[in-house]
Amino acid sequence: MPTTNKDYYGTLGVKKTATAEEIRKAFRKAARRYHPDVNPGDKRSEEKFKEISEANDVLSDEKKRKIYDQVGFYSDQIDPATAEAYARQQGGGRGAPVDFGGFDFSGFQNGPGQHRGQHAGSPADSASWGSFKDIFSGIFTGAQQPQQPRGPQPGSDLEYQATVDFWTAIRGGQARLDVHRQESCPTCHGQASTGGPTQCVECNGTGQVTQMGGRMKFNIPCPRCNGTGRTTNLCSTCHGEGLVDRDETVEFRIKAGTRDGQRIRLQGKGNAGVNGGPAGDLFLIVRTGTHPVFTRVGDDIHLAVPVTMPEASLGAKVDVPTIDGRAQLKIPPGTQNGQKLRMRERGVESSQHPGKRGDQIVTVEVQVPKLSDERSREIMRELAKLNNQDPRVALFEKL
Ligand SMILES: [Zn+2]
Ligand SMILES: [Zn+2]
Repeated sequence: MPTTNKDYYGTLGVKKTATAEEIRKAFRKAARRYHPDVNPGDKRSEEKFKEISEANDVLSDEKKRKIYDQVGFYSDQIDPATAEAYARQQGGGRGAPVDFGGFDFSGFQNGPGQHRGQHAGSPADSASWGSFKDIFSGIFTGAQQPQQPRGPQPGSDLEYQATVDFWTAIRGGQARLDVHRQESCPTCHGQASTGGPTQCVECNGTGQVTQMGGRMKFNIPCPRCNGTGRTTNLCSTCHGEGLVDRDETVEFRIKAGTRDGQRIRLQGKGNAGVNGGPAGDLFLIVRTGTHPVFTRVGDDIHLAVPVTMPEASLGAKVDVPTIDGRAQLKIPPGTQNGQKLRMRERGVESSQHPGKRGDQIVTVEVQVPKLSDERSREIMRELAKLNNQDPRVALFEKL
C-alpha cells in the first residue's frame, strides 16, 4: 500500500522557488492559524498543524530541502551524494535506478513521517509539539522529537476561593462550592482509547508501508502505527484526552474557628490523572463572610457599643451582644468616648489551639444627650459649674 509523496511546497502554500524567508513567513502564518493551542480539541487543525510542521522541518533546512527536491521525499537515511546521483539519473532518464535498498531505514521513525499517524495508545498531545510561543521564539524543534507513549500522568492541583458564612466559619459546619475540574473520562476510564488494539488500516497490519521516490520504492515503518501493525481507537467521548471537563459542587467541612485566608486541602479533588496517574488536590482559600455588628479580627471579635453619658461618667453594668448571646460588660466610672474595653475569652474558639478563645473588644461610643427641657438644661449648667475644669488646658500647654 504505497503512500503518496507529500507536497511540502503545496502544504505551506509557497512556490518551489521560494526563498528561505518566504518559507519561514509561510510557516509562521500557517502555524498561527493551526496551532493546537489556538484550536483546542480540533482534530483537523491538529492534523493540519502536523503537516505544516513536517513541511517546515524539511523545507527550512537547506540540506534536507535539497534532498527533498532531488528525490521527492526526505529521509535522514539518504545522504546528499546519493540524492545527487539519483537526481542526475532522473534528469538523464537513463541507466539503472539507484538502489536505496541497502540503506537502513530503521532510524526513519525519528524522521518527520512518523508524526502523520497517532501513536498507538497515546493521545495526541500538543505539548509534544512545542508551545505556540516556542515556535515564534525559535526554540521549536518541530518533528524532531520522537513522540513517546504517555505513561501515568498525575492530575494538576486546583485552587479556589471559598466564601464561607460568618457563623459557619465560627461554629464550623458544611459548606459547598461549585468547581470546574477535569475528570477521568467515563467511557474509556482515562485510557484515551476504546476497545483493544485493531489492525492498522494504513499498512494492513504489516507495520510497513511503501514510500515512492520517483521510480524508487522504499519500505519504511508505517507512520500510522509506528511499525507495530496495530492501532487503538481514540475514545470519541474525550477525543483521546482521557479526561472530560465537569462542573461539580464540592461539599467540604469547615472546622470551628476557621479564619479568613486559611487553606483547606481536599486530597484527590483536583484534576484527574491520565493513564492511571493520581488525581491532583483541590485547595480552597477560605474567605469568611461579614456580619453587620461583629467584626472578626483573627480570633478576636470587635464591636462598637453606645453608652449614655451618665453610664460613662458614673460607671455601669450594661448588656452587650457577644457571639454567644447577651453578656454583661462593666463600664468603669469616667470611661471616655472611643475607649476600648476587653471582654476576655468572649471571642472565637481557636481552630489551631483547641480550648483557647479570642477576646471581644468593645469600643465605647458615648452618646451626648440632646436636652429638650429647661429642667435638664438647668441641671447640666449646674453640673458644669461644679466641674469647671478646662479640658483644653493640656492642649495649649503642648504648644
Ligand atoms: Zn474517553
Ligand atoms: Zn500501520
